[in-house]
Amino acid sequence: MRTQNPEQYKALMPVIEGVEAQRAHRKKMLAAGFRIFGRFGFSEGVAGHITVRDPEFPDTFWVNPFGVSFNRIKVSDLIRVDEDGNIVEGKHTNLNRAAFAIHSRLHHARPDVIAAAHSHSIYGKSWSAMGKTLDPLTQDSCAFYDDHAVFDDYTGVVLDTSEGDRIAEALGDRKAAILKNHGLLTVGHTVEETVWWFVSMERCCQAQILVESMRDKPQLIRPEVALSTRNHEVGFPIAGWFSFQPLLQDILVNCPDLVD
Ligand SMILES: [Zn+2]
Repeated sequence: MRTQNPEQYKALMPVIEGVEAQRAHRKKMLAAGFRIFGRFGFSEGVAGHITVRDPEFPDTFWVNPFGVSFNRIKVSDLIRVDEDGNIVEGKHTNLNRAAFAIHSRLHHARPDVIAAAHSHSIYGKSWSAMGKTLDPLTQDSCAFYDDHAVFDDYTGVVLDTSEGDRIAEALGDRKAAILKNHGLLTVGHTVEETVWWFVSMERCCQAQILVESMRDKPQLIRPEVALSTRNHEVGFPIAGWFSFQPLLQDILVNCPDLVD
């Protein structure tokens, strides 16, 4: 099939009625997202966070507690945080201030965004030092073609919400940003999509680093083909959701304690 139809994917997505069931689903996907990050080795000490907006109280979001291994996070570990940085639900009392500073302002600036992800993954942070967007080198990288930005104003650990505002401004209406000298950031309409964009973008950074290590100059995908591939094949929201499903299948089998 040359061109995928977004409507075909839509039929695969579960329709979840009611805020209780939606919240349970979002939290389960969030916990699964952390296990995926753990398995890909995206952790670096205490750095990294994924958030999802609460369906009933959309000014608040669920996030990982500070200092807990991605490989051990369960649904019961997640904490809900309000716009002022107060933990309003959950058993943990530690919030990563950088997570709050970045994600609270992103969720504020982008009402369409349900989830956001950031970590100090090795290829993302290595590529970030170049201060450049990714090139359309492969089919996979077309997902990010003309749909990611560089935030090129690193001033230290993000602890202030004003820096979150500036990151949100750089991101604009795109699906991802490269935070220069720092790492990757992705957003989406579901946790599933957001985590997939992160996994894929990290590997696109790895691919570009490999390509740039070769002697010959790479041949880029033509702009109109890259755009079409993004819009109709690999880069629309439900394609991201669908690409997450194989990762989720493995996590659900290998991590039975996820929903404890
Ligand atoms: Zn960071």
